[in-house]
Amino acid sequence: MAFRFVWGSTMEKLKRATLLKEERNGGRGVPDIVNIILMQGLATLVQNTQKVDKASGTFARYYATPFLRTMGLCALDLTIPYSWDPPYVYRALRDFAFGAGLPRAGLTLWSYKIVMAHLRSKETMTLPRGSTTLDPPIIWANVLNKCLNNKQKDIAWMSAHMCLPTRSFMFKQHLALTERCPHGCTDSEHVYHLFWECSVARRVWGLVVSSVSRNRLLPRSSLTAESVLYGPRGGCRTPELQRQWRIVNIVKQVLWEARNIKVYQKTSVDPVTLRRRTQNLLQDGVMVDFAKDKCLAREKWGVDHWK
Ligand SMILES: [Zn+2]
Repeated sequence: MAFRFVWGSTMEKLKRATLLKEERNGGRGVPDIVNIILMQGLATLVQNTQKVDKASGTFARYYATPFLRTMGLCALDLTIPYSWDPPYVYRALRDFAFGAGLPRAGLTLWSYKIVMAHLRSKETMTLPRGSTTLDPPIIWANVLNKCLNNKQKDIAWMSAHMCLPTRSFMFKQHLALTERCPHGCTDSEHVYHLFWECSVARRVWGLVVSSVSRNRLLPRSSLTAESVLYGPRGGCRTPELQRQWRIVNIVKQVLWEARNIKVYQKTSVDPVTLRRRTQNLLQDGVMVDFAKDKCLAREKWGVDHWK
């Protein structure tokens, strides 16, 4: 159900293992419900075996000591009875512990958070797809930067994984009849084409830069195919870079909306409407920033009110 919520349909566009990873490792931080329940069960069980005077401690030791001692967490006392055939719930915990390599982890304190942190520390980073010379950690920090709203984050993150459902992607999945750009170009509609090479994209970038640069917000020199897809080379460290990255993502959002209108409603949106939509979204962003922190917003946008 969680994956259906993330994708908005039953069609999953990326491996589940990637989605479950932390955001800094290229995932989306989707909670792994099964593992969370198992981790909490195991941590509670280990804590219970350490309770000397309580009935729950005796119960846990009776069933769990035979497998917990192999993890170095319990000593076997042969003067008291043990079950060598634990119930199926405990067997599931044992299989999880061995599968996750917890016996060799050397954990001394057992709590859900510590077990979780141990499993997170073993995660490997998924590399972004496409040709880029940017460092992967910077790309993942850029695409999920807090200066973007959720919709923009989703588009940027899926573009970095090259799993945005463009015609090229859908054609490879046998879900589209053609991979040609819906705007009538001869090229296939992949992510680079959609956001940078397409005739509609070139026109919108031209219009936006000419109108936005009057406010000195987005220098034309900072725009390249790579910076549009993956963000600034050094990350969004300053309010100025955050502002530029947000404008870039607003334009990407508008291009994606225009493409969807063309595909699903068979209607072309004229560039002036696209520019107006871009300006409205920018205005929304400025107003949200002002509502949060006036001084920071003035430093970031350099204006009191959007003009
Ligand atoms: Zn095109």
